Amino acid sequence: MINVTKSYLGNKDKFIAYVDRIYDTGWLTNQGPLVMALEQRLQEYLGVRNIILTNNGTIALQIAYRALGLTGSAITTPFSFVATTSSLQWEGIRPIFADIDEATWNIDPERIEACIAPDTSAIVATHVFGNPCAVEHIQRIANRHNLKVVYDGAHAFGVRHGGQSVFNWGDISTLSFHATKLFHTIEGGAIVTNDDALAARIRLLCNFGIVDTDIIQGIGINAKLNEFSAAMGLCILDDIEDILDQRAEIGQRYERELGGYFDLQAPQPGSQRNYSYFPVALANELQLLRSREQLNDNGINPRRYFYPSLDTLEYLQPQAPQPRSRALSRRVLCLPIYPGLPPKVQSRVIQTLIHESIHSEQASRALFNPLVRAFDLAQPQLTVATCKRIS
Ligand SMILES: *Cc1c(COP(=O)(O)O)cnc(C)c1O
Repeated sequence: MINVTKSYLGNKDKFIAYVDRIYDTGWLTNQGPLVMALEQRLQEYLGVRNIILTNNGTIALQIAYRALGLTGSAITTPFSFVATTSSLQWEGIRPIFADIDEATWNIDPERIEACIAPDTSAIVATHVFGNPCAVEHIQRIANRHNLKVVYDGAHAFGVRHGGQSVFNWGDISTLSFHATKLFHTIEGGAIVTNDDALAARIRLLCNFGIVDTDIIQGIGINAKLNEFSAAMGLCILDDIEDILDQRAEIGQRYERELGGYFDLQAPQPGSQRNYSYFPVALANELQLLRSREQLNDNGINPRRYFYPSLDTLEYLQPQAPQPRSRALSRRVLCLPIYPGLPPKVQSRVIQTLIHESIHSEQASRALFNPLVRAFDLAQPQLTVATCKRIS
């Protein structure tokens, strides 16, 4: 089965060389030399001031909320991975959804202000599929209402906006280095901030509040990354330019060949993409389900990211419905994209989707408009012309 992604495994000999070093030193975790080296290299590669590695991307979000002292409620997006919302609820912060922008698929800044409640302490937004949020607009709103801004940057590794890392916007950005992500450490994550005092507080939170052997300063938890994970990250970082190039090549082919048939995510102006995912919005849910079935029959396993819309989560009810997010979540399918995806397989994905789209257009017209259908049957050349038009 061809899946939506395939975990990247770097050079095995290089990884084993790192493992040999771990066996030599016996240092497995707790701010080991490989974790320190990876932090240093990521800081330089991404162009950020402070990066603190964590053992996953969900706890990175939880620690971000704690470090900023968030309370009450936070305005957030209904169209993201469940962890963006569940981490808020888990930390006792009530998520309030602001619906998404129909073009960029990110939280719509125009909708944020109307959602702010007296107890709102933050905006928690996702750069969905690596597409930067309207960061300047969001910052203006945050300044006006004295709100903190946290970006869930789990998809945005390496993405730049306005000539610098997208992680330089907001008070904190969090990353996930889960095995399915573009850059990974098997399990892992990171917290980025330009504020040195905040970074120091985050380091304490990640390590039980332990300052040194005899001093514990405030409550903390265990969010430390281990040395084996850091070794994986160091190996993969060596190949990152090639990973990004290969993804861009596959992503741009999808754009060229599918752009005329389907709605694609509109890139945020002033930024480039990392092709961490390739989402496509089909005409409707029926077409999505049929296309998925066809692809499955061809040995291809696309994924519905993100479905269901987070405002429908049972543990948050009752909840104001978010119609744009609900509508989009019923239409989006993420297609296979990863280094080494065979071009032949990509052709099959593209052909299957286009075929299903033309077929379902014809079927729905036949179903809903018997007059058009009778007309088409009488004049077969018109059907061909219609297919050409939608192609
Ligand atoms: C993957 C992901 C997370 C969670 O990261 P983990 O490392 O799996 O805990 C959070 N938010 C988004 C948007 C994600 O895609």
